[in-house]
Amino acid sequence: ITPPALSVFETVESEVRSYCRGWPAVFDRAQGARLTDEDGHEYLDFFAGAGSLNYGHNNPVLKRALLDYLERDGITHGLDMATTSKRAFLETFQNVILRPRDLPYKVMFPGPTGTNAVEAALKLARKVKGRESIVSFTNAFHGMSLGSLAVTGNAFKRAGAGIPLVHGTPMPFDNYLDGQVPDFLWFERLLEDQGSGLNKPAAVIVETVQGEGGINVARPQWLRALADLCRRQDMLLIVDDIQMGCGRTGAFFSFEEAGITPDIVTLSKSISGYGLPMSLCLFKPELDVWEPGEHNGTFRGNNPAFVTATAALEAYWADGGALEKQTRARGEQVEQALISITEENLVDVKEYRGHGLVWGMEFHDKERAGRVARRAFDLGLLVETSGPQSEVTKLLPPLTITEDELDEGLRTLARAVRET
Ligand code: PLP
Repeated sequence: ITPPALSVFETVESEVRSYCRGWPAVFDRAQGARLTDEDGHEYLDFFAGAGSLNYGHNNPVLKRALLDYLERDGITHGLDMATTSKRAFLETFQNVILRPRDLPYKVMFPGPTGTNAVEAALKLARKVKGRESIVSFTNAFHGMSLGSLAVTGNAFKRAGAGIPLVHGTPMPFDNYLDGQVPDFLWFERLLEDQGSGLNKPAAVIVETVQGEGGINVARPQWLRALADLCRRQDMLLIVDDIQMGCGRTGAFFSFEEAGITPDIVTLSKSISGYGLPMSLCLFKPELDVWEPGEHNGTFRGNNPAFVTATAALEAYWADGGALEKQTRARGEQVEQALISITEENLVDVKEYRGHGLVWGMEFHDKERAGRVARRAFDLGLLVETSGPQSEVTKLLPPLTITEDELDEGLRTLARAVRET
């Protein structure tokens, strides 16, 4: 592969660029689980736009819906206008997702990206409870705007903006030993001890699997204990399902398996299904204390995204969970491959972990995941790293990937590990 000459990516684009930076290719087209660069090289995608392409690139069903909509000059602007495409999305979301799960959430469109949904969730919790602190977790990632950063457990990302955890109360992510019953009694003692200086937080924000923080999987019993803690201590529970929602762990919402009902849920990434910016903040109806206009923004009404989102819900979630079953089966396929890679590399694989179709492999040599990603790229596979020191190889293929494609990618991954 010939690296491209020094280009505008080096000379004009800011150094801040991170994802895919180490891959010397300029990507041009993509279909399903495959991307093609401008020189015609093909790559299998185990990255899925950091979780925003659960249904694959240019999914034909969604593409048809989008093209039909554009061809009939459907509304494209943002803002809050009531439109036919927004109505179709709200009705479908209610009928296909919320009602069957007995989730009576109100739906808010807080802006184009995930961090907009997190900001809205934090603001709403503070307004409802009249308290400012939010409990968040070590290694959490909730976005790059100031409020989201304040609850992000990554010192490097916070330091750039000079954000201490001023409005947050950090807690360790699921750190109970196997077999130990999580109870959070230590935290309740702190809350109740006047001398601890800990003011009661308004809410707890949590990811069920930390996607950016190293594929750390919270156990269902830990999530249930956390939900109980929130109830006992009058704090709202916010589940940030931006990366793990929309089927990544199997069920549509990643918290379903734990049998909990968060007070507030954030969704983005794969909700539009086509990589179009869209985010949702969902909350229990009694929390709808917003005054009209109290939280707004120009690009909240991405109507083409409503169209693809509606098509995705109808194609993948209206049929009683075929995608869910397939995701779990593909996940088992990944787990088997990770077991054999671990057996081959006993010395350096520290742990593999995952759930549904999101998996991570952590190495003792913290630089190895980066080398694996680079070698995999040369072999035609796109994988990224995750974790505070990028020490985890992160596997996040589209949920629609075929068994054969997945097998091909896993064989390439095994080779990349062997050769680094
Ligand atoms: N929350 C979680 C769990 C995420 O994984 C991300 C992005 O990776 C965000 C929030 C922020 O979303 P965005 O980058 O679209 O602002």
